[in-house]
Amino acid sequence: MQSVASRENHGEGMSSIRETLERHGLRCTRQRLAVYDFLNRTESHPTAEEVFLAVRDQVPHISLATVYKTLDVLVDRRLVVKLPDTTGSGSSRFDARAEHHYHLRCLETGRVEDLDAPFDPELPFKVIPELEDHLRRKGFIMTGYRLELHGRFAPELSALDDQGGGEGDRS
Ligand SMILES: [Zn+2]
Repeated sequence: MQSVASRENHGEGMSSIRETLERHGLRCTRQRLAVYDFLNRTESHPTAEEVFLAVRDQVPHISLATVYKTLDVLVDRRLVVKLPDTTGSGSSRFDARAEHHYHLRCLETGRVEDLDAPFDPELPFKVIPELEDHLRRKGFIMTGYRLELHGRFAPELSALDDQGGGEGDRS
């Protein structure tokens, strides 16, 4: 049940962006192409407003409302994952990376980054050994899970690491 895809989704060409949209039953409008292409090229997990600012040069007259609608369609077709706000800023973020992965979220700025670690579909069962029993009692079928680590980015820590300061598994 290993679901770590080897395909690198970032940096897909425009023609494969078009193919992916069509494979998911979507007409290739300029708005959809521009929004989906931008999300494929960025690793910043942008908000809808940030997507709007990024694509409005390529798609003149696009509105924020259209960007919201386009994102909804892409999320609905599971081409894009919506990461609801957990910091109180009120803005969801969007991620086109296809394979399952974990996130780091800064509670001060709302910034979200991918955690560079392999995804383990069995992790919840390892953390909670009786999970299967709990789920059966609740009458719940688990189809997936998300893991988001909360905290804050501390550049001084990675600066130490760059100088050879961090040698263990944990820095
Ligand atoms: Zn991500």
